[in-house]
Amino acid sequence: MEKVLVVGAGFMGSGIAQVSAQAGYRVYLMDIQGAITDRALRDIRWSVEKLETKGLLKEPSQTVLARISPEKDLCRASEVDWVIEAALEEKELKRAIFQELDRVSRPEIPLATNTSSIPITRLAENTRRPERVLGLHFFGPVPLMELVEIVKGEKTSLEIFERGVAFVQSLGKTPVRVQRDIPGFVMNRIFSAAFREAVDLVDQGIVSPEDVDAGMRLGYGWNAGPFEIADNAGLDTCARVGQSMRILGVGHLAPSSNLIERMVAEGHLGRKTGKGFYKYSSEGKRLPREKKENQ
Ligand code: NAD
Repeated sequence: MEKVLVVGAGFMGSGIAQVSAQAGYRVYLMDIQGAITDRALRDIRWSVEKLETKGLLKEPSQTVLARISPEKDLCRASEVDWVIEAALEEKELKRAIFQELDRVSRPEIPLATNTSSIPITRLAENTRRPERVLGLHFFGPVPLMELVEIVKGEKTSLEIFERGVAFVQSLGKTPVRVQRDIPGFVMNRIFSAAFREAVDLVDQGIVSPEDVDAGMRLGYGWNAGPFEIADNAGLDTCARVGQSMRILGVGHLAPSSNLIERMVAEGHLGRKTGKGFYKYSSEGKRLPREKKENQ
């Protein structure tokens, strides 16, 4: 049985661990905060049991759950076949993690990152195996979203790139190949361009978030509007991605208003805190938005 180490057990890491276990991999899920791995395991249990109830799981939920172990450090890196890093979107943090992963894992294994914006090449240059570093950019919530961008760094070998494609397909996901390493890759650049405009228009009081979301669903056929997507992704992560885009010289893809940062400062991080552009019940169900007088 192939083994996968997922680094970071937040929204994305827990989803990547879940789909890897569902596909039959032995999974180690690591975070620096034990409380976060505990929460991730609870969320995964809830999600897997829900899939089982709906008849969408190929095996008993207990079998899938037994494949995932929580970890406090990177020591499992020495025995795994894949590493997928899904820690916070901060370049220096990720560079340090890649340097450490390179030191402690077998030299022949691929090191993947789920970064939303940071060029793979910048992370790869902190390792002695840049040809084995690639982007596997999953979309959230990972158990529901089929797309994964496979991103080629300047030095990523064709063999590792294609192994990334095969790995993602083994998870039942659909790969999109990104052949050149640019900040934000492809899907995030396109989303960010729309999100930037949406945030700026809302902050100027021209339109409400729910009207933008309805407009993008009904007018353009999106499954969810940009503010629904942002609330699910986490506004703290959106703020980090925006900041990262500015640092990487593609600030035209980040909102010019600081609305997201103001919401984060107030503790409104989206679905995970029960309030973002929308409000959510303690079970995570979206609550009806209170209309202001002029809306
Ligand atoms: P998150 O805040 O939910 O989780 C990040 C986790 O990283 C936290 O639990 C934190 O404790 C952990 N962490 C911090 N330092 C660490 C370290 N040194 N070692 C191990 N874990 C560490 O964030 P997220 O939304 O899961 O995003 C994770 C990554 O995935 C980011 O790079 C983000 O840009 C990317 N991403 C996010 C989304 C999304 O929709 N949220 C989509 C695609 C990609």
